Amino acid sequence: MTIEDRKTELDLQARPPVARTATDVRKKIADARARGQTIGLVPTMGALHAGHLSLIEHARRRDAFIVVSIYVNPTQFAPHEDLSSYPRPFADDHRQCADAGVDLVFAPTDEIMYPPGDETRVQPGALAIGLCGPHRPGHFEGVCTVVARLFNLVAPDFACFGQKDAQQALIIKRMVTDLQYPIEIVECPTLREPDGLALSSRNAYLSNEERMRALCLYRALSAGRESLLKGDAAERAATIMHETIAQSSPPDAIDYLVAVEATNLQAVTEATRRVLLAGAIRIGKTRLIDNLLVDLPPLRT
Ligand code: AMP
Repeated sequence: MTIEDRKTELDLQARPPVARTATDVRKKIADARARGQTIGLVPTMGALHAGHLSLIEHARRRDAFIVVSIYVNPTQFAPHEDLSSYPRPFADDHRQCADAGVDLVFAPTDEIMYPPGDETRVQPGALAIGLCGPHRPGHFEGVCTVVARLFNLVAPDFACFGQKDAQQALIIKRMVTDLQYPIEIVECPTLREPDGLALSSRNAYLSNEERMRALCLYRALSAGRESLLKGDAAERAATIMHETIAQSSPPDAIDYLVAVEATNLQAVTEATRRVLLAGAIRIGKTRLIDNLLVDLPPLRT
């Protein structure tokens, strides 16, 4: 390694700085505020991919001090889920943050996020009952709890979340309103592979054969969208999604595949103008989710 290479390596190691404690993150953010900067937070569990980078890019467009949190939150995983095997490529994540122009990485330990004796939880309401709710008991409570704590530690002006986790984004927006956080929630579109597969850290678990089968979810959602856009009712669109997923190389299980009102995740009614087509499937040991938002054509009078 030349001296120049070593310098570059050291540079990358130092930038962006990594805060690991509450005191450290608060201090660095106070410094940025003192410089007059607004603060944007992009919460992640790491194993960064282009989907995460697109969130960072949205934050950059707002000319803010960008904080990316990297924390695999134990309370949002059920005991049988993939907490221990979840990928944690921190050095690579840090390098990607450097390349993306992130100002600060917040990578707390479990002891920081869940202090000894911890027992307080943030409980979401009706939005957490459907879709992923019954399949991941306690998941959204874990998400709300960790996001509330991140919001308290970072106190951002805005935070970016992906439409890829549509139910999560709705629940977080509700939490921000209900708990009166002065934080704008910026929802960013889902980034996909060229063939349509939504980018996800869990795609790394898929074998080649599973990767091919994983596309069935996007195919089904797309067929549902086509059905809605040609004027079919939501029930018909849901049927078409189920038929499509059964025809193509099917998944090992379908947790759900539904067409719901996008604002409240309830059944579609005559008043619905935006439908959320959403699904969760299992391919081998991997659970994948995806969704599409469909704006219905204006009602003819
Ligand atoms: P995660 O690390 O999976 O918890 O995701 C962190 C954030 O990135 C969440 O707000 C996700 O919705 C968002 N995200 C994950 N995958 C994508 C994607 N393919 N496109 C856009 N945002 C995404």
